Amino acid sequence: MELTTNDMKQWLLTAGEKMQDNKEYLSELDQAIGDGDHGHNMARGFQEAADGVKGSGEEDIGSIVKSAAMTLISKIGGASGPLYGTAFLKASNEWKDKTSLTQNELAQGLEAAVEGVKTRGKAESGGKTMLDVWVPVVEYVQQRDLVPSELAAKAKESMEQTEGMKANKGRASYYGEESKTHIDPGAYSSYLLFEALAEALDK
Ligand code: ADP
Ligand code: MG
Ligand code: MG
Repeated sequence: MELTTNDMKQWLLTAGEKMQDNKEYLSELDQAIGDGDHGHNMARGFQEAADGVKGSGEEDIGSIVKSAAMTLISKIGGASGPLYGTAFLKASNEWKDKTSLTQNELAQGLEAAVEGVKTRGKAESGGKTMLDVWVPVVEYVQQRDLVPSELAAKAKESMEQTEGMKANKGRASYYGEESKTHIDPGAYSSYLLFEALAEALDK
C-alpha cells in the first residue's frame, strides 16, 4: 500500500463530509453521556480542516496534516478538539517532508498519534473513549497487510464494543454505570475518520 499527498487530502476531505453527514447522530450519542455538542464540534472542526486542505498547494503530507491539526486544536471547543489535534500533530511530525507513505510509515504516524492522545488525555484503552477505536485500528495497521475493507471493519467493530464499556474519562465518566449501553461519541467519530481513510486508500 502507498498513501500519497493526494490520498491524504482525500482522507481529510472525506472525513469532513462524514462528520457533517453524521453531525446529528454524533450529538445524539453525546446527549446520552455528555453535553450533546460532539457533532457540532466535529462537523465544525473537520469542515475548517477540509477547507484548509482545499486551499493548500502541492505541499508534503507532514505540512498538510500539521495545518489540519492546528485547525482542529483552535476551532473545536471541548475535549475532542485538542485530542484530535494532538493526534494529527504527532502524526505530522512523523510524516514531515514526505510525499508518500508506506504502510510502515503510516503505522508510525498513527502510533505517535495514539501516544499523543494517551498523554494529553491521561487515558488508556478500555476507558470508553476514542482510544478504543484508535488503539485496535493502529494495531491492525502495524500487524497486518492493510486491506481497506478490513481496516473499516476493525474500526466499526471497535466502535460498537464501546457500547458495553464503562467510561472513566471525560464527561461520560460522570455517568458511571449508566454510561454503559451507549456508544461513545468520540469512538463513533474515530470510526468515521478511519472509514474515510479506508475509502481514500481503496482506489
Ligand atoms: P466535551 O466532552 O468536552 O464536550 P466532545 O463532546 O467533543 O467534548 O468529545 C467527547 C469525546 O472525547 C468522548 O466521547 C471521548 O471519546 C473523547 N474524550 C474525552 N475525554 C477524553 C480523554 N481524557 N482521553 C481520550 N478521549 C477523551
Ligand atoms: Mg461533548
Ligand atoms: Mg462540550
